[in-house]
Amino acid sequence: MDWFWRLKENYCTGCGICFDVCPESAIEMTREMALPEPVPNACTGCMTCVDECPFDAIEVTEGEDVGYELNG
Ligand code: SF4
Ligand code: SF4
Repeated sequence: MDWFWRLKENYCTGCGICFDVCPESAIEMTREMALPEPVPNACTGCMTCVDECPFDAIEVTEGEDVGYELNG
């Protein structure tokens, strides 16, 4: 089953916690990036980033591509 990672941009502060805690390196964040982005096909759905994001800015869903929406 595929997992889909979606950022609610309006909630995200760019704190980088999700990038730090992901055990699969499935979240990309560089100095040039203001916000985190998902690495394609890397998420295993562990939900660590969802649990650790202080701003409730991440949705991870199984099997249904809800897309990566910058303005979600
Ligand atoms: S932990 Fe949440 S607020 Fe921080 S960068 Fe990740 S998605 Fe954005
Ligand atoms: S759900 Fe787990 S594997 Fe997927 S991006 Fe979040 S921390 Fe990484």
